[in-house]
Amino acid sequence: MVIEAHARYRDHAEGSVADDIPVLGRADPSLFGLVVTDAAGGSHVVGDADVAFPIQSISKLFVYALALERHGHDRLREVVGVNNTGLPFNSVMVFELNAGHPMNPMVNAGAIATTALLGDGDPGRSWEALSAGLSLFAGRELEVDREVYASEAASNDRNLALGRVLRGYGRLEGPSDEHVDAYTRQCALSVTARDIALMGATLADGGVNPVTGLRVVSEEVARDALSVAAAAGLYERSGEWLFEIGLPAKSGVAGCIVAVAPGKGAVGAFSPPLDAAGNSVRSQLAIGFLSRAMGLNLFASA
Ligand code: GLN
Repeated sequence: MVIEAHARYRDHAEGSVADDIPVLGRADPSLFGLVVTDAAGGSHVVGDADVAFPIQSISKLFVYALALERHGHDRLREVVGVNNTGLPFNSVMVFELNAGHPMNPMVNAGAIATTALLGDGDPGRSWEALSAGLSLFAGRELEVDREVYASEAASNDRNLALGRVLRGYGRLEGPSDEHVDAYTRQCALSVTARDIALMGATLADGGVNPVTGLRVVSEEVARDALSVAAAAGLYERSGEWLFEIGLPAKSGVAGCIVAVAPGKGAVGAFSPPLDAAGNSVRSQLAIGFLSRAMGLNLFASA
């Protein structure tokens, strides 16, 4: 089935590679990797599953889980929020929706606030906690792609502005530019579709990495993180995604999507060409096919 999903969409030519982060613009548009990892740790792998790419916004889901583990359901609900913005991921207008509140952890404003919270306002502590925590999700030590980090850090005005606005509204403790720097480094962690599928399978498995056997977050945290991914994981397209596919998911601008079937497993799909919202076109199609073929839609009674 995974082989069929890959074969069906491998030649699908819609979408274009991200251009807002200069180094991502050089990605090969023909790359396409697909990995299904079940909640017992077994994997089905097709195509470019071991090609490295920056994790980008997919990190938001896992850093959110770590922040939930540290600060709890109520604090995160209050400080970062759980409602969809209906706006693009890098929107500044998000602050106008709710008196300077970042709205949810899956858009940049809320993700920067979440990263800051993870280290209790100390960006160095945030970085240590998130790099160690994301490595536990992946079951191996993740490293920063320095070229991606440098490229993004040199063209980061918008995220720096988001950090400043958060601080201006009293919603960020500590130095905002350094929090944004930790967030930027977080987005530059290098992963593969195989890593992403295992990270997703860890949430599917109630917070235990099914390959290493280590608990990364509690069962309640895995549930809460997946709820927010269902509401906001594909930015302003989250409603359409849930309607068509019926699974919590998170996308990143390098062209990866992770979709999680709680209790069952996860799909990690990677292909650089994106739609207008910044979501990988082939990844959406392949996950949609697998969700239907494997009966994974959470809202289906049979
Ligand atoms: N690092 C990117 C940013 O902050 C992440 C965007 C994304 O993957 N959607 O703009």
